[in-house]
Amino acid sequence: MPELPEVEVVRRGLEAHVLDRTIESVEVLHTRPVRRHLPGPEDFAARMTGRVFTAARRRGKYLWLPLDTGDALLGHLGMSGQLLVQRPDAPLERHLRIRFDLGDLDLRFVDQRMFGGLSFSEGGAELPSELRHIARDPLDPEFDDAEFVRRVRRSSSGIKRILLNQTIISGVGNIYADEALWQARLHGDRRGDRLRAVDVALVLAAARAVMTAALGEGGTSFDALYVNVNGESGYFDRSLQVYGREGAPCTRCGTPIRRISFMNRSSFFCPSCQPPPRARPWPRLSSATWAAPTPA
Ligand SMILES: [Zn+2]
Repeated sequence: MPELPEVEVVRRGLEAHVLDRTIESVEVLHTRPVRRHLPGPEDFAARMTGRVFTAARRRGKYLWLPLDTGDALLGHLGMSGQLLVQRPDAPLERHLRIRFDLGDLDLRFVDQRMFGGLSFSEGGAELPSELRHIARDPLDPEFDDAEFVRRVRRSSSGIKRILLNQTIISGVGNIYADEALWQARLHGDRRGDRLRAVDVALVLAAARAVMTAALGEGGTSFDALYVNVNGESGYFDRSLQVYGREGAPCTRCGTPIRRISFMNRSSFFCPSCQPPPRARPWPRLSSATWAAPTPA
């Protein structure tokens, strides 16, 4: 599944290649990727035709391309989606679903499994209303670190669950959450309201660092005309410390990495560097509680 750094690479590629281009025609080859556009695929194509892309924006793993009308093309890559900028004469991809003719270029949405999709967001140029509930991500210059620390420390959820909560922080994803927690030496079950501010700041800095590193490694392709993203890119495998390393020694202390199931997925962690939270002892009862009742 594309993670945030890969989506950011796609955003930069789109910014480099499709701005100021007019959509001459739109071909919807499969209706499923435009299922969220309720008036149907013909209406989708009609609304997009003749419009001009004016920017390429992102919030978490959602991308949107504002149009000259103040509306936007909104997209999510899902599990296997790709947005490709191609020459019009390039052979059609096997899983090509939607094709935008931009004159001397094509913008193509290719998606094998079709969990992703595109939609037309009315008035969505600044921020599509569909995304209003999604928080900024840690690579966003306007992300508010202090507010994030406060919100985590008000939550009784485990820190990993908080990192995956898109209304508090977006785009972190399962892999980066595990990596950031390992860096910060925190077990994912540690409750937000029992963490010190310094620990929360540490895990946020770690998430930002691993995502920035992946962006650097994945950013090599963005100058190319062919803008590609898929789950198999493998560029992050080289730098992963815990994710997918069950049984391998922790690179910090040598203890075998453990895997546990978590929200239908997996969590990887080092049981020595990231000890699970201890159960709190029962509050000590004051002696007054135990005083014999005074006779009435
Ligand atoms: Zn360790």
